[in-house]
Amino acid sequence: MRTVTLIIIHCSATPEGKFLSAEACRQDHIQHRGFRDIGYHFYIPRDGEICQGRPLEKVGAHCRDHNTHSIGICYEGGLDIAGRPQDTRTLAQRGSLLALLRELRKRFPKALIVGHHDLNPMKECPCFNCIKEYGEL
Ligand SMILES: [Zn+2]
Repeated sequence: MRTVTLIIIHCSATPEGKFLSAEACRQDHIQHRGFRDIGYHFYIPRDGEICQGRPLEKVGAHCRDHNTHSIGICYEGGLDIAGRPQDTRTLAQRGSLLALLRELRKRFPKALIVGHHDLNPMKECPCFNCIKEYGEL
């Protein structure tokens, strides 16, 4: 297994009322970004299902300059109906994200849990404060 120092949370930038399944996200990354596979290691749609993306051993494609040593998790949403940044996580998504992070914490106890925004302030993603919410996990 590669060294993992960061667990990075993203949103899919999907507005409320629109949908992007894990498979649709995968196809978008393959067809429009030229990736071999979905860029994230996990994808959590609004119903809270934890969908496995790229295998953990494989380097992801989700955060410039930080892919080599990180795990990428994305939740479906992150924009309000007008397309403005907003924490749109459903209760199911919050529960699944917390459970997933607790599991990853056990396996990678030293990795920091951060949001994309914390590494690149030009991005609003994932539209909530990950360090505040998960810093103590
Ligand atoms: Zn992001």
